[in-house]
Amino acid sequence: MTRIVYVNGAYKRYTEAAVHAEDRGFQFADSIYEVIDVLDGRLVDATRHLARLDRSLNELSIPPPMSNAALLRVIAQVIRRNRIRDGIVYIQVTRGAGPRDFALPPLGTLPTLVVLARAQRKGWAAELAETGIAVKTIPDNRWGRCDIKTVMLLPAVLAKDEARRTGAKEAWFIDAQGHVTEGASSNAWIVTADGTLVTHPLDRQILPGVTRATVMDAAKAEGLNVEERSFSVREVLSAREAFVTSATNIVMPVVKIDGAPVGDGRPGPLARRLRLRFHHIAEFSAG
Ligand code: PMP
Repeated sequence: MTRIVYVNGAYKRYTEAAVHAEDRGFQFADSIYEVIDVLDGRLVDATRHLARLDRSLNELSIPPPMSNAALLRVIAQVIRRNRIRDGIVYIQVTRGAGPRDFALPPLGTLPTLVVLARAQRKGWAAELAETGIAVKTIPDNRWGRCDIKTVMLLPAVLAKDEARRTGAKEAWFIDAQGHVTEGASSNAWIVTADGTLVTHPLDRQILPGVTRATVMDAAKAEGLNVEERSFSVREVLSAREAFVTSATNIVMPVVKIDGAPVGDGRPGPLARRLRLRFHHIAEFSAG
């Protein structure tokens, strides 16, 4: 349970933690976020997550609310005050509050910072990975800067809802060329018939997933061949395996796409291997 939330310099009780009614995050989605996994009380890949947070802020010219060293201290406090051993930390920064105006607020407007943590049962993702998940394809109707981790998540919310109504756990966005860009909240991968790992290249169409980067390191350490290129739904249907990566799922096998089996319809050996390797490669730091 979340008991304490950090909001703009104060540790508030969950029921009392709030931001201003004219916060730009609320009015314009003028805001970015990060989610970091907490495992055995330690942060997973915090350096990469904070580097992406810096990049997101920089791309939108939102001033950092504090140094990364200070932010790590706040994160550690939030984890401690909520007694989290396994779960997630959620960090959100907005451009701040002020009278509603499309024009950017005056220099010196303080960004809003929220840090909250939530416990999750250890092993839930590992259990789900035993059976794998189904995905549903949805036209990619998001904006042109999906490389920035903004809270502009309405297309992802609606895509996931549509997926769930068909019994699928994740949506895979399809661009105008018929290629899979990424999942609604994950990066998408396939394993081709010759055992090559394929995932969309880093460009403005996808989020540079932290788990994607670490899984890529794990794949290289295992001597696997990785190609960063687009792939079509037809290629997914002839793939040996497919999976998604995200901070909470790590490596999650995809066993069905739009109701059709992927590979033999069961989690594949490479997804399993990478899932196990992940925790040897990822960075763990004190929470
Ligand atoms: N793509 C999108 C659109 C996402 O929302 C996420 C999850 N934040 C990811 C990819 C995976 O990123 P990460 O591995 O850093 O969690």
